[in-house]
Amino acid sequence: MKDSEYNVVEVAVPVPVRSSFSYLSKNQILPGTRVKVSFGSRSLIGVVISSSTKPNFQKDLKSIDSVLDDKELLNKKDIELISWLSNYYKTPIGEVAKLFFPPSMRKEIEIPDEQEIFELTQKGEFYSEDLLKKSPKQLEMLSYFRKEKTATRHGLKSISYDSRILRELIKKELISKKKIKYKEEIQYETTENFLELNNEQKAAYESFKESLGSFNVHLLFGVTGSGKTETYMHIVRDVLENHKQVAVLVPEIGLTGSLEKSLKSRFGNKVVTMHSSLSNKDRQRSWKSIQSSSAKIILGTRSSIFTSTPDLGLIIVDEEHDSSYKQNEMPCYSARDTAIYKAKLHDCPIVLASATPSLESFNNAKLKKYALNKLEERVSEASKPKLELIDLRGKEIISGLATNTIAEIKKELTNGNQVMIFQNRRGYSPVVVCESCGWSPNCPNCDVRMVYHKQTNKYSCHHCGYAENYFQECKVCPNNELSFYGAGTEKLEESLRTIFPDFPILRIDSDISYKKDLNTLLAQPLKGDPMILVGTQILAKGHHLPDITLVVILDGDFSLYSLDFRATERMNQLITQVSGRSGRGNKSGKVLIQTFVPEHPSLEKVVDSSYETLAENLLQDRNQNKLPPFYHSINLITESTSYISCKEELNKIRSMFVNPHIDVIGPQPCIIEKRKNIFRWQISAKSKNRTLLHNSLNRVLENHKIIGNKVRLSIDVDPL
Ligand SMILES: [Zn+2]
Ligand SMILES: [Zn+2]
Repeated sequence: MKDSEYNVVEVAVPVPVRSSFSYLSKNQILPGTRVKVSFGSRSLIGVVISSSTKPNFQKDLKSIDSVLDDKELLNKKDIELISWLSNYYKTPIGEVAKLFFPPSMRKEIEIPDEQEIFELTQKGEFYSEDLLKKSPKQLEMLSYFRKEKTATRHGLKSISYDSRILRELIKKELISKKKIKYKEEIQYETTENFLELNNEQKAAYESFKESLGSFNVHLLFGVTGSGKTETYMHIVRDVLENHKQVAVLVPEIGLTGSLEKSLKSRFGNKVVTMHSSLSNKDRQRSWKSIQSSSAKIILGTRSSIFTSTPDLGLIIVDEEHDSSYKQNEMPCYSARDTAIYKAKLHDCPIVLASATPSLESFNNAKLKKYALNKLEERVSEASKPKLELIDLRGKEIISGLATNTIAEIKKELTNGNQVMIFQNRRGYSPVVVCESCGWSPNCPNCDVRMVYHKQTNKYSCHHCGYAENYFQECKVCPNNELSFYGAGTEKLEESLRTIFPDFPILRIDSDISYKKDLNTLLAQPLKGDPMILVGTQILAKGHHLPDITLVVILDGDFSLYSLDFRATERMNQLITQVSGRSGRGNKSGKVLIQTFVPEHPSLEKVVDSSYETLAENLLQDRNQNKLPPFYHSINLITESTSYISCKEELNKIRSMFVNPHIDVIGPQPCIIEKRKNIFRWQISAKSKNRTLLHNSLNRVLENHKIIGNKVRLSIDVDPL
């Protein structure tokens, strides 16, 4: 065979090596096709990223083992996005490429588009019940089938379903199993109407409309309750009329519920969702319908940005400031920034929406890199809530609540209103300590204190999930009574039940709501009866609860003394978002912030200024202190069972940065130095010049070889 009869294809193989690998193929394979290749002794699935006929190929190249798809599944723009991500976030290209497929398709198996159906047989219909007398569970299931005739496995979960019982009935030929092609069984009725836009909303909408068909970043900066969602729903409708696709990103699964309902009731089956709590089958189904363009709107969390959208016409990033858009492990990508690059590749507009934009986006709008669309009017009658500081000094405090705070809560409840209390610590007692010797139950895997949870009666680590059964003796000295301090959400809930026995109390934090659907939980407050909601930051996000008139922030000081320079930005966002919970609907609201330092300038400003003024002030600080968005930074983190190895490796890397325009800080231990028995250290490289920073790091990485595999290096570009 002549050399020219071969193609050389570059394959992104999911291994921790930065480059792609060359293989030979007799046939031409288009980029975006999955192939099976041998890699060392393993057989792996990779994605073709380019192919060419090279007559002078190296003789020792291996051939592709097999081609898995009849045609390419990713388009050219996807391949470009993969290369950009790999370059920008310094992540092996094969590790990035696999994210563009749903989990089932990263392995060879592709879940068939079929559904199992169980059906009552004729024998089953007339089978004598006496014969099943000894197996009441089989009889119960048979009776179910006699009523329903058919069922899916999912449907059977409503009765006490047991796969063994089902198998028994199939063996007795009372029930048969068959497979049918999956059809969309739910038809959504398009019932929700579009509301008329007010002048501000109309202006924003017109501005989006003008940029359809070209790349443009819009910052939709709208106060809570100003109708941001309604505004972008209108532009989504226009994009769909042009037969294009829309990608909508949301920070958390809990938030997709109401938006999903709203999108589906307007656009019906054109909407699919994509997030990690869907089954693999559902993710594959969503992926395929978007990739083939049979579905037009994809609503999902951060990784949904990797779904191939051949006809993309618009991207919306809701709550663009939310830190959940940043992944904290390799690839440490920002879904918002990736979305902006994707919009550029597709030559379409992108809308970043928030009531509290990130300083990065706020600054870009100031510099006119982004179009700024402001919504300053609240759609409903209610005015901006009043903010008030509660001085905790010298006050009696019950489970974190000052007596005057309790009085305010009581007033609202008796007036028939709802109250939300925000506490950023979950569990019962955040601090458990021996008062004789100072010992605390620490997590053996991480260097943090464990939190006492009353519901499970355990001490548990919030970093690795490690838990120990309750004990009350000190493990170091003879003291047999540990002391409990602080009030987490659990304890707060308990005390509130004692103080307000006549009102329902609903606690919402990740201990409760991660398993349950947030929308189900929020059905109770939506009924409008007076009650108290206690929650962590989950509650601060975009929920419309019209009957809340008072919001209490228990610990207004938590960010003031933080090591994280973003803490003040986050506190401002949180307070603005939480205030947005109060006084929606037609009621006006009040926000109480409890503090021990009411004269602290950051808190005073929060009370007196708009979010915009706060952001302006913070930008000045950031500029003076050489911080983002004026300076760019990249963290290099080493992980190892030995902290000496962590440090040595980083010292080596540090010495390789030679440019005087790059500051390198560290090595120093990460904020939590030890997690799950692994030590973590980091250096941080900073520069005003982003390109220079990236180029230097690329050079460092090319020359840097980790000796042995004792140390793992990860890179966090634009860390949060
Ligand atoms: Zn002790
Ligand atoms: Zn731990």
